[in-house]
Amino acid sequence: MYEKIDEQFASDNYSQICPEVLEKIIQLNQDNAQAYGNDYYTKYAADKLRELFETDCEIFFVFNGTAANSLSLAALCNSYHSIICSEVAHIETDECGAPEFFSNGSKLLLAEGKDGKLRPEDIEHLATNRNDIHYPKPKVVSITQSTELGTIYTIDELKAIKKTANKYNLHIQMDGARFANALIALNAKPADITWKVGVDVLCFSGTKNGMALGEVVIFFNKDLAEDFAYRCKQAGQLASKMKFISAQWIALLENDLWKKNAQHANNMAKYFEKEIANINNITIKFPVESNSVFIQGSEDLLEKLRDNNWIFYNFIGLGGARFVFSWNSSKQRIDKLVQDIKRFI
Ligand SMILES: *Cc1c(COP(=O)(O)O)cnc(C)c1O
Repeated sequence: MYEKIDEQFASDNYSQICPEVLEKIIQLNQDNAQAYGNDYYTKYAADKLRELFETDCEIFFVFNGTAANSLSLAALCNSYHSIICSEVAHIETDECGAPEFFSNGSKLLLAEGKDGKLRPEDIEHLATNRNDIHYPKPKVVSITQSTELGTIYTIDELKAIKKTANKYNLHIQMDGARFANALIALNAKPADITWKVGVDVLCFSGTKNGMALGEVVIFFNKDLAEDFAYRCKQAGQLASKMKFISAQWIALLENDLWKKNAQHANNMAKYFEKEIANINNITIKFPVESNSVFIQGSEDLLEKLRDNNWIFYNFIGLGGARFVFSWNSSKQRIDKLVQDIKRFI
């Protein structure tokens, strides 16, 4: 027997598959396209992505974000290199050491940063802290857009990071688990916040935007993609039924569905922020710039919410709770959450 779970805001990967995506899988299921990405749909999805990013780039479809991040970082590093990132970066806190594992030991160098963002001075500090043979040589800056704390790098901030990265000959990798949400928040074109500001490789998430599963690794710097297909295969990330991942991307890219999904998610975060803004004894921890809201409340409040079947993460310290909104978050359910917060406070 399975238990029906009410809509939750624990993460945007709690959400359902969006109907257009599911429809595309059903449509493709009538066809008998080739395996291992040698099908028309995969080529078409890759071409649609090239068109979207307005540049020729190398494209690889994988199952999940941990693989996208760790394999792309491994492609940019040798084992004696290091990767500069924020101390709250998913690659540090939530990937079970996969970036280090797949790169055969590249070390992550952590910066405190500000609101989840790396600043040029953080990069400068970590890139120059040591330059002797006894320390792993900095090779990559990894930034998350939107960040793990729901904040956004502005185009100027991205340019400043590029300038510093250039100074120390560092590649830039972008964890775009919530790239769509950042793009909407910045009202920018995809090219403007990626290769035009020096991003060498982007991990772009479909899962958190309405797909069942699937991410894409996009190498704007094509030289860095050499033999990447082998890396994916060896890591167990070459889907034999890749066509069903590609088909989902086609659905998201058609009619700008991915943007609509991200817009809705961002709007719902703003709505929640507004609804809780005037509640006493609750503070909002970080600027709400994309699709998540972090609140600080008493342990008692959080416990009562949990007792009433609300699921959320509290990995950012005592009394903290994260709520993430997705393509299908409903106002009705947000109202219920707000009502419960008011009731238990
Ligand atoms: C969700 C997420 C990922 C990907 O996680 P997987 O569970 O491996 O798909 C990567 N980076 C960030 C910032 C995320 O939030």
